[in-house]
Amino acid sequence: MLQQQTIRTPVSTIGIGVHTGDKVQLTLNPAPQNTGIVFIRSDLTHRPQILADVNNVSSTMLATSLSENGITVSCVEHLMSALWSAGIDNLYIEVSSEEIPIMDGSAAPFIYLIKQSGIALQNAPKQFIKIKKAIEICTGDARASLLPFEGFKASYTFVYDHHVYNRYPKFAEIDFTKASFESEVSRARTFGLARDLDQAQSMNKCLGSSLENAVGIDDYNILNKNGLRYEDEFVKHKLLDAVGDLYLLGKSIIGAFEGYKSGHSSNNELARALLAQPDAWTLVSYKHKPIADQISPVLQPLAA
Ligand SMILES: [Zn+2]
Repeated sequence: MLQQQTIRTPVSTIGIGVHTGDKVQLTLNPAPQNTGIVFIRSDLTHRPQILADVNNVSSTMLATSLSENGITVSCVEHLMSALWSAGIDNLYIEVSSEEIPIMDGSAAPFIYLIKQSGIALQNAPKQFIKIKKAIEICTGDARASLLPFEGFKASYTFVYDHHVYNRYPKFAEIDFTKASFESEVSRARTFGLARDLDQAQSMNKCLGSSLENAVGIDDYNILNKNGLRYEDEFVKHKLLDAVGDLYLLGKSIIGAFEGYKSGHSSNNELARALLAQPDAWTLVSYKHKPIADQISPVLQPLAA
C-alpha cells in the first residue's frame, strides 16, 4: 500500500515576510494521519488553525492567502509546492505572522527543511485525485485546465511582451514521472519588474521584497548579479506556483495541468471548478507501491 506521510521531527527556520518585511518564525511539526496540512498562527492567542483547502483561499492578489474564522495566513504557495514535492500529506505548520517567510523566493529552502527532518510513513492509505474528464476555466485571456493523464505533468505558457522576458523561454512542460520537481523546478524564484516593486512599496506592499528573494528586472536587464538559476526560470516559477496552489486540494493530482497566462486566481478557480464537478474526478489509492512509483517519482520518500 502507498501510505500517507508526515515528517519525523519538528524543524524550524526564520525568514522575512515579503509583504510586511517582518521577521517570521516557521516550524513544521509532524501531524497524525488524515489531518491534512494545517497552519497554526503561533503569534495569536489560542493559536488558531487554518486548513490548507482550496475553499479557504481568501485572496490571490500577489500571493495565495488562506482564511478561516477571520484568521489569515498568506504566501502559502511555495511551501505547498515543496510539500507536494516531498509527498507530505499531514503537517502542522506554525507561523509567527500573517505570512509564510519568502526565504529565497523559491521552494528549495522548504524542501531542504523537510529533508532535515526526514519522512515518516503513516498507516492510512495515501489518496490521489485522478482526473477523468477535462476541466477548463477561462478568465479574460487566461486559461487553465486539468486533463486525464497517467501520472502528473504540467505545462505553462508565459505571455508578457518585454525586452527581458522575450529573451528567455516562455513555454515549459515537465512530466514529473520522468523529471524531478526538486532539481528541475524547485529553485525557480519569484520575479518582477523593479518599477512595479517601487510602486507597490510606495503603497506599503512588498516591503520585504529584494534581490535576495526575487529576480528583479528593469527595462533591459536582470538586476541580480548572478543572473538566472535556470534559463527558463520565469516560466518554471509559474509552474511552481501552480503546483503549490493545486496542492490546496489536499491530495496530489493524477492528471495533466496546462496553464496559459494563468496565475493564483486561475489556479484556485480551476481547483474549485474541479471539486464542483464530481464526475470529472475520482479518489484513488494504491495497494502496491510499484504502481505508484510509476505515477510519480515525487512519491518516493526523500533521501535524508
Ligand atoms: Zn510564486
